[in-house]
Amino acid sequence: MYRHLSKGRLWQGLFIAALGLFFLAIVGVGIMSTANGANDVERERTTKLARFAIDSRMTTLSAAAEANSYWDDAADAVYRGAGRDSFFDTNWLSPTVDNPDYDAVIAVDVDGKVWRAGARGRVDMSARPNGAMASQAQRLAAQLVSGTDNVSGLYLDGGDLFVVSASKIRFTDGARNSAIIAGRYQKLVYRNPVDAAAITAMGADLGISGMKFSTQRVDRPSIQLRDTDKRIIGYLSWDPPTSGWLAVKQSAPVLAIGSLLFFLALTFAGRFGYTLLARLSNQALTDSLSRLPNRRALRKAISERVAQRIDHGLALIDLDGFKNVNDRFGHAVGDRLIRMIAELLHELSNNQAIVARLGGDEFAILIDGKESEAAVEEITRQFLERLESPMVVDGRSIWVGASIGLTASKGNGLDDGELLRRADIAMYSAKQKGKMRFQWFESHLDDEQKFASEIASELRDSLKAGDLQVMYQPIVNSTGQNCECVEALVRWTSPTHGSIPPDTFIPIAETFGLIDAIGLFVMRKACGELAHVHDVSLAVNVSAAQLRNTQFPVQLAGILAETGFAPARLELEITETYLVTDIEFARRVIGDVIALGVSVSLDDFGTGYASIGFLRQFAFGKLKIDKSLVHQGMDDGAARALVQLSVAAARAMNMVVTAEGVETEAQADLMRVAGCDQLQGWYCGHPVPFSELGPFMISHHDITAAA
Ligand code: C2E
Ligand code: CA
Ligand code: CA
Repeated sequence: MYRHLSKGRLWQGLFIAALGLFFLAIVGVGIMSTANGANDVERERTTKLARFAIDSRMTTLSAAAEANSYWDDAADAVYRGAGRDSFFDTNWLSPTVDNPDYDAVIAVDVDGKVWRAGARGRVDMSARPNGAMASQAQRLAAQLVSGTDNVSGLYLDGGDLFVVSASKIRFTDGARNSAIIAGRYQKLVYRNPVDAAAITAMGADLGISGMKFSTQRVDRPSIQLRDTDKRIIGYLSWDPPTSGWLAVKQSAPVLAIGSLLFFLALTFAGRFGYTLLARLSNQALTDSLSRLPNRRALRKAISERVAQRIDHGLALIDLDGFKNVNDRFGHAVGDRLIRMIAELLHELSNNQAIVARLGGDEFAILIDGKESEAAVEEITRQFLERLESPMVVDGRSIWVGASIGLTASKGNGLDDGELLRRADIAMYSAKQKGKMRFQWFESHLDDEQKFASEIASELRDSLKAGDLQVMYQPIVNSTGQNCECVEALVRWTSPTHGSIPPDTFIPIAETFGLIDAIGLFVMRKACGELAHVHDVSLAVNVSAAQLRNTQFPVQLAGILAETGFAPARLELEITETYLVTDIEFARRVIGDVIALGVSVSLDDFGTGYASIGFLRQFAFGKLKIDKSLVHQGMDDGAARALVQLSVAAARAMNMVVTAEGVETEAQADLMRVAGCDQLQGWYCGHPVPFSELGPFMISHHDITAAA
């Protein structure tokens, strides 16, 4: 029995020793391979980053080239030929003086000849025809075959590295491109030097030390760089990663000492794994574009504060009009804008807050402390104020707005999910109230949001089923004898909430992305129904969100063609809120619409701030005086004076003036005396379905007779 036992013990001892050795071996191999693995991971990561650094240089430059060449004014100057040199000097050359993104620009004609070139603000035609930049420009321009609008690359000149980017000079409108340019594009080429200092800085930004460019291969981690002809021109190299081997050196004595340290080794391995994990998860907590903490990081930060009972305020920021920036200027410009917004928020928060990017065009600000509510509101205010003036990206003014939701945690034990949800609801409410504003979360918003999302989903179904109606309200001449126009007004009955006025569901449709579909539905239906009712014009309301869609003029042209509606009989009604947010784009879209033969009216005049002088630049055919002004005009001298002044000014600009919301004979008289050309309102006729419109127009509802 004893013998048996001692034999058993021996086996047991041997077994434990074997197991220990086995584990030691595993730990040893594990540490070695983790170290190797860590080095590999690090090497792979730095390689990717280095590639990213060079690529982002090219992206930045190509964004500049695109923004400057995909531009109607530029295409006008270049293809119409008038004053192209002076256009070049003012718009393209002068920004090269101090632009960090480029130092030289060259314009190349359809035959590949350079017609103007310059660097750092000076015309430098000596670059022509054999300078390295000129020949690169020509080579790159030649690569812009059909289907490619922009190419970028690298080249070497006297040992110095440069990034170049070429773009086709063109109109924003495809039809004009085919009519005027007809495939024979001139090109614009930009250059940006990438000197040693820039490379070191580039590496430092990405946390890579010792980044250098060399024409010869070096014994360090590196990537090859090729020129525009795909020839290798050199190498971008950096210091090799060492973190993994460092770990092994530290662990070698541990392995040698044996079984006691075996446990230590285990702990160490665990620790090491933990740091590696921490590093990886750190990467997972950063947004790669803006380098700000991401959504996960923000949630983590909120949870920590909740756990430690730290009061905090949260702002959720959603940019308005950002999608259009991507559509119009390309993603590179969009990316730059995101980075600029990130910087701006960072600057405003003055290191007192966590600024995070939650993805897309959403940002957040988190502030701690008893005063966090006031502080977060203050930053929000300042941010909105800054956005009132456009952001300048590559010398081009771009307008973006924002809607901001605010909420705070004051020991109410709400978790991160609930706080973000509340901020989100408040943000949506700000958006629906007309953007460029902030909104604190209040509990009634929950119900409003619930209502809005119900409406949106029902509306979506109704749209699919074609279940929206269009009514028409007559607009008569000032004596009331003649119906000159009808305004299409959308009507919708919700299956659960009954009839909902457009003032309620249109803003919801705008925030839920349904407005394009609704607008096109009304336009198609109205144009279709009235295509053969001659002698009256048709007015259709177009929301600002629709006009921000670059496809709008094309879609409109499609509907006109499809329904056979005469463009000259169509009037689009737009409100001034749209104009003030993006003047340059508004002017362009209105121009495109007018080019189709359609006219544009300014709706709701008197509710906003725009002066007649400001409106002069938009070529409106008609001014509609808002019903509030018409109603006030009855007993308010100032309102009456404003009506009279507006009518006189509009007349001077050859605009037709319509008074809206005329409900009584007295109002009709007043507006007539003030000089309005047309009247619209219940006094002249309620909105009616198409089927009831015919008799109205034939019988010429005569308001003077009715009076
Ligand atoms: P709006 O463009 O100013 O349209 C005139 C509104 O005044 C209509 O309200 C009309 O029914 C109402 N109205 C007409 N005569 C009188 C009157 O004598 N007194 C008063 N108090 N009101 C009168 P509705 O149909 O409820 O539309 C409200 C707003 O919804 C419209 O204001 C317009 O901004 C928007 N809307 C309507 N249809 C559409 C549409 O198809 N697309 C877009 N984007 N917006 C639409
Ligand atoms: Ca209207
Ligand atoms: Ca109106």
